[in-house]
Amino acid sequence: MANQQESWTILKVLEWTKGYLAEKGVENARLEAEWLLCAVLDLDRVALYVNFDKPLSVAELAAYRAMVGRRAKREPLQYILGSQEFMGLDFEVAPGVLIPRHDTEVLVTEGVKRGERAKTVLDIGVGSGCIAVALAKALPQAEVCGVEKSAEALALAQRNVAKHGVKVTLFEGSLFEPFNGQRFDLIVSNPPYIPTAGLDTLQPEVREFEPQQALDGGKDGLDFYRLIIPAATDHLNPGGWLLFEVGIEEAEPVLELFETTGQFAELFTAKDPAGIERVVGGKRL
Ligand code: GLN
Repeated sequence: MANQQESWTILKVLEWTKGYLAEKGVENARLEAEWLLCAVLDLDRVALYVNFDKPLSVAELAAYRAMVGRRAKREPLQYILGSQEFMGLDFEVAPGVLIPRHDTEVLVTEGVKRGERAKTVLDIGVGSGCIAVALAKALPQAEVCGVEKSAEALALAQRNVAKHGVKVTLFEGSLFEPFNGQRFDLIVSNPPYIPTAGLDTLQPEVREFEPQQALDGGKDGLDFYRLIIPAATDHLNPGGWLLFEVGIEEAEPVLELFETTGQFAELFTAKDPAGIERVVGGKRL
């Protein structure tokens, strides 16, 4: 696509990219091409369609080509565009931080149901901040805290908190480290939960570009549940809820970890839209 820049109209560029990205294994190549081009031209998709015959300038073509090059290497579209929608809110995303997943909306929905009267909420491992921000929006009466080990993720989460104008207090640290002696009414977490041996089988976008420390849950994927569940008993008020996102086939063993403590009642699971048990939770006695 190097020569005759003046003849590269929007339609021609889209057609070409569709074939090129599909060849590289990108599933929705045409649609992704449209999103990338929308970003470069600062147009919405309707505007793109009514301007099919419009040629791209040399600068636009160069910017677009750089983006397509990244996507062809299977870098996630969201890192290239710098954003992802979650719970109807737009979040900034950046390489080095896990991209929000729609599956995780189940955790937020279940948290909101049980947090209507919560005065204090904690999100463990905030990543981009999408869960903490969505909870703060939905539960304005609550004081929301978040903790994150990665300084890079923490900085991004801070920007997302500011972007949405919510009050979320973020702490750098590991799990309950910054909360000695503190108790909460609702604790949520989407910890790393992929079994280490399974990391190699993830799609290239995840495997090669997303941070391993946000994905790797140890040998059986359950390391973080083993750490958080017993520790949470000292950080929940009586009647407070602990809710997790879990990986495929992890609901059963995580329920058992709750049961082993003898400190939780009203254990439950909730499914994601694909029918997979995605959330596990319990109420502190
Ligand atoms: N759901 C993510 C994935 O599919 C994993 C996130 C996590 O480990 N918490 O890759």
